[in-house]
Amino acid sequence: MRKLMITLSTAAALLSACSGNVQKQEEVANDDFTYQVEKFADLEVLRYQVPGFEELSLQQRTLLYYLSQAALEGRDILFDQNCKYNLQIRRTLEAIYENYEGDRNDEQFRALELYLKRVWFSNGIHHHYAEDKFKPGFSADFFAQCVSAVKPEALPLKEGQSVQQLIAELTPVIQDSTIMSKRTVQSGDGDLILASANNYYDGVTQAEVEAFYAAMKDPKDEKPVMYGLNSRLVKENGVVKEKVWKVGGLYTEALERIVGWLEKAASVAENDAQKAVIETLIEYYRTGDLKKFDDYAMLWVYDLDSRIDFVNGFTESYGDPLGMKASWESVVNFKNIEATKRTEVISDNAQWFEDNSPVAKEFKKEKVKGVSAKVITVAMLGGDCYPATPIGINLPNSNWIRAAYGSKSVTIENITEAYDRASAGGGQTKEFAWSDVEVNMLKEYGFVTDNLHTDLHECLGHGSGKLLPGVDPDALRSYGSTVEEARADLFALYYVADKKMVELNLLPNEDAYKAEYYKYMMNGLMTQLTRVELGNNVEEAHMRNRQLIARWALENAGKECVELAKKDGKTYVVIHDYDKLREAFGQLLTEVQRIKSTGDYEAAKQLVESYGVKVDADLHKEILDRFAPLNIVPYRGFVNPRYVVTTDDAGSITDVQLDYTEGYVEQMMRYSKEYSSLPSVNN
Ligand code: ZN
Repeated sequence: MRKLMITLSTAAALLSACSGNVQKQEEVANDDFTYQVEKFADLEVLRYQVPGFEELSLQQRTLLYYLSQAALEGRDILFDQNCKYNLQIRRTLEAIYENYEGDRNDEQFRALELYLKRVWFSNGIHHHYAEDKFKPGFSADFFAQCVSAVKPEALPLKEGQSVQQLIAELTPVIQDSTIMSKRTVQSGDGDLILASANNYYDGVTQAEVEAFYAAMKDPKDEKPVMYGLNSRLVKENGVVKEKVWKVGGLYTEALERIVGWLEKAASVAENDAQKAVIETLIEYYRTGDLKKFDDYAMLWVYDLDSRIDFVNGFTESYGDPLGMKASWESVVNFKNIEATKRTEVISDNAQWFEDNSPVAKEFKKEKVKGVSAKVITVAMLGGDCYPATPIGINLPNSNWIRAAYGSKSVTIENITEAYDRASAGGGQTKEFAWSDVEVNMLKEYGFVTDNLHTDLHECLGHGSGKLLPGVDPDALRSYGSTVEEARADLFALYYVADKKMVELNLLPNEDAYKAEYYKYMMNGLMTQLTRVELGNNVEEAHMRNRQLIARWALENAGKECVELAKKDGKTYVVIHDYDKLREAFGQLLTEVQRIKSTGDYEAAKQLVESYGVKVDADLHKEILDRFAPLNIVPYRGFVNPRYVVTTDDAGSITDVQLDYTEGYVEQMMRYSKEYSSLPSVNN
């Protein structure tokens, strides 16, 4: 499948119970750098460092500055994509937050503040990961009272709308849990489009969407564009049509600004190849032409010599139940030259890995093309990568471009490092690991095997295998994302245990991989459930994939290989035979690749529904109870550094530095002022 190239690894996204309250701001200095910024609800906001920034040339730092501005200008787009009321709600809450004259320690106000902080974090009123709508802790009356107290000029009123009408419109959206209750509904027998609260479709049924795009696709086209990627599909006067996100189209106000910054970026590009990438992206934003987007993607894959790189655009389609419409995101970064040597070793051996995998020969790539892998340092996060961010990326998503031109795969090490620093001493492993043997193993090899897993997942996993001729890349439909992530994870799990890892100097010895196996099973079977509310199923694709793999292994590899055992009334994963577990992963990889290569929808459905979705209620409750006293939050995100630019009298940039002092609320309020060009309602 094309989508799903972003991975949020298990270790990186450490887990735990919800506290539900605004907690006191927590500042813990670590090597003179503050990694922890703030903790609230089920979230922790961290700060990342950008090591190596100062060593870049002024031109490179200026380029990063322009790209970082382009990254921030798309924030409103994502809010609007996630739900059509998001911008109006955010702006109304911000107006209250700024102008409130009552007691700010009042319980109702504190609850409103918490809600706003969560809206910022999730880029809307639904949980960024669980997809459920937030339950506000403040009353409808309090909201009405607060809105009425704000000067009307400060409120995001639509043309001709009164303050009372604004209150009447927003109150049920915020308060009534039955209205727009889930951002994206990924599975079920109902109409997924109508059930989803996101703003990718308006007034159309799932059947109408499927018919619309089926008519567009030509099965003989060997270079199909990413149909539907950059538009909202609507029905107006009975006609189903696309409203394209482009300059002059939907979201033009934000896209014009993005283009403005990209033009400046092009003027200080490091080389011609990079300049061509930026200019082609601008052309695509101006025309909305998806063929231009493919041109851009090809140029981007080939630009390997530049130190600086970026993603800026409608990229990942996790948010669309049909996997077509892409959310807007940006990641601005530069290559970490020292750490990249590790991924280069992996990609230099890509063909060996492909040839020696347990997958059936007809599903393997005869020639693995251009798996370029590098380790990067992030210098700005935007849109769907902010504040919650991936730790690895593999793009582009177009299947035929990946097959013909390869892909770029990155591991984001300054982010994984921030996670690692911030979670030192978290207590989770001690609580959930079977014995000191596993605890020590994880302590010693956890970080190195986790990074290696991410490298293998991104550099090799997603890039491996092929579809049989004529197989529709979207054949697995709503199960496609989970299957694709499972495929990449299984490839990584299979190889992390290979002797080749020690041979290539990627692991210190032949037992180190066991840390990754233990952590993976413990997470997939148990600890990741801390992110799921009691009574709910597993919904998110990466989580489904992890449970699928772990449960399948548990139920098929045999008790003498792996089991869940009890000690003092608590459940633990016990792995008796790591070799056998590796065989099980290999066996499942073989089947998952077959499903993908042949587009076997029924088998995909069977596998995901049997192993990836349902939760054992007793075990789930036990896990939540054990997490509660640990006081670790399940989700983390980041504030960005602030770019400080110095200019001379003529306005030319003479210096660019980073400032790491901005707080979470401060940053969000500033972004809402400085990078907020869209109207509250976008039609
Ligand atoms: Zn992935």
